[in-house]
Amino acid sequence: MKKNKKKSSSSVTPPEEKGAVTQEMDAVMEAASEDTAEIGIILDSQNPVSQNPDSQNPVSQNTDSAEAVSQETVSQETPPEIPTEEPENAPKTVSESTDPTAEEIPQEKIPQPVDENPAEDTSASDETLAEDISTEDTSEEEPSEPDESADTADTPASGEPAGYKKLGLYLHIPFCKSKCAYCDFYSTDKIVCTGHKVPEEMKLYANALKNHMRILSERTTQYNVDTVFIGGGTPTALPAKLLLDIVKEVERCFYLEDGYEFTVEMNPATADAKLLKKLRRAGVNRLSIGLQSSHNHELAALSRIHSTGDFTECFQMAREAGFDNINVDVMYGIPEQTKDTFMETLSFVAAMKPEHISMYNLRIEDGTPFGEKKHMLPLPDEDTECDMYFDGIEYLSSQGYKQYEISNFAREGKECRHNLRYWHGEEYLGCGPAAHSYFGGTRFSLKRSLAQYCKALEVKGKSLPSSLLDENYPIDKKEEIAEYLMLRLRLSEGISTDDFKARFGGDFDAVFGKKLQFYIDNGFMTHENGRYAFTPQGMFVSNHILARIIPFEPKFKG
Ligand code: SF4
Repeated sequence: MKKNKKKSSSSVTPPEEKGAVTQEMDAVMEAASEDTAEIGIILDSQNPVSQNPDSQNPVSQNTDSAEAVSQETVSQETPPEIPTEEPENAPKTVSESTDPTAEEIPQEKIPQPVDENPAEDTSASDETLAEDISTEDTSEEEPSEPDESADTADTPASGEPAGYKKLGLYLHIPFCKSKCAYCDFYSTDKIVCTGHKVPEEMKLYANALKNHMRILSERTTQYNVDTVFIGGGTPTALPAKLLLDIVKEVERCFYLEDGYEFTVEMNPATADAKLLKKLRRAGVNRLSIGLQSSHNHELAALSRIHSTGDFTECFQMAREAGFDNINVDVMYGIPEQTKDTFMETLSFVAAMKPEHISMYNLRIEDGTPFGEKKHMLPLPDEDTECDMYFDGIEYLSSQGYKQYEISNFAREGKECRHNLRYWHGEEYLGCGPAAHSYFGGTRFSLKRSLAQYCKALEVKGKSLPSSLLDENYPIDKKEEIAEYLMLRLRLSEGISTDDFKARFGGDFDAVFGKKLQFYIDNGFMTHENGRYAFTPQGMFVSNHILARIIPFEPKFKG
């Protein structure tokens, strides 16, 4: 068993061996582009930014018509809408889906650069700048090594021996006891465990997931896993034995680094004291509980299957089981929600003293029951939602929760390390249908097909058919810069110009400084100590601002 096996310096992989692995990966990815080829590893592009209050994982939004499992629970992603007041020739870029808050912003609240001529602000001029950066270090100069004086928080793997890297692992569990009216995540409520009868599909899925991990484990021997996230769906919708088997397989397959973070998502309706204790004993050390609201009528409006009382019981059971790192999801913008009921929810949650609180905006997605009746939903108006967001930030701050990302708040040192990995652009692998990965400079995702996934991984093997792949594309320098801006600016720490230079060899101030000055002057950004960062006001409209500063359409939608 490879659990927690700390690598000694003598076990560090020589660079030349690492190169061989990288080459193998390249070959694998090349092969994956051929439809008939088989890939030796399925590294699904991570889902850095979950819009699902229940789920901190990124999952593919594409439907698979070949899906044998009931698909009425699966919705299609809405193409991103570009702000309509955007000048026609202005660059159209960042997906709305990267920012759970942006969609509801009244247009008049979006800052409009008045000191820039839109004609000068076209993709042509900006693209030239971006291309300058993107090619600078590929011609004569090698990318600079991170400056030792630079902020090490921006330099993943800083201080690690050469040849030794860290990895995040995401496991998707595509089952829910009942589908919430707003949810477009890939999960089904047509396969449910009742009583002692375990559905065959769940057994097949757990088997497939374990086989997938075994395949990945053989190709990640030079990695230590330091974050694991089991999300969904509802992981605790699985029978306890299957979920525990999966947890144990993680530990069998991967080197878990000392001090690792291991999160399991939980719906309060699926809480079970025995299971919680077993999970804790098995090495799970963080829970993420989806509450959404402390008002039962709002939970009913969302078609959540739990009550506030279920949550309280679940939370207490988790503490008794020894969990000292718990996240609670809450939501604003719920039908019939008022500013008062939202603040009561925050107050209720803060009184429980979780270590982390995620505060998401309800998004109405096409293809969901809410999407079908969106014009009839009694939603709070946009001004009320703005107030909820800013009042929420202020209140959570007063309770000791520091905002470190657009929608995330934590006590000191309790930020979600797995999600930080997404926002820091670090590597992760995803297992399960619709799971995403970012590995070896490539982003890829698996199709939203439970049936295909189970069939492909039914038998222990060393490869997966490339037909399981959905997206699969390497990240070039230009795309990497766009992702860097999109993801780093989600974080309160923002962008360090030193780190930018170390990574891309370019001068951030020279390329973006002039554009950002407008937002700094108007209170949407700060520029202090070599860092650019959004203020809370800027975070609320971050997608709109990013759409103006990223001069092309990134493939990655966050
Ligand atoms: S419980 Fe299931 S259906 Fe409801 S939000 Fe979570 S993943 Fe979606």
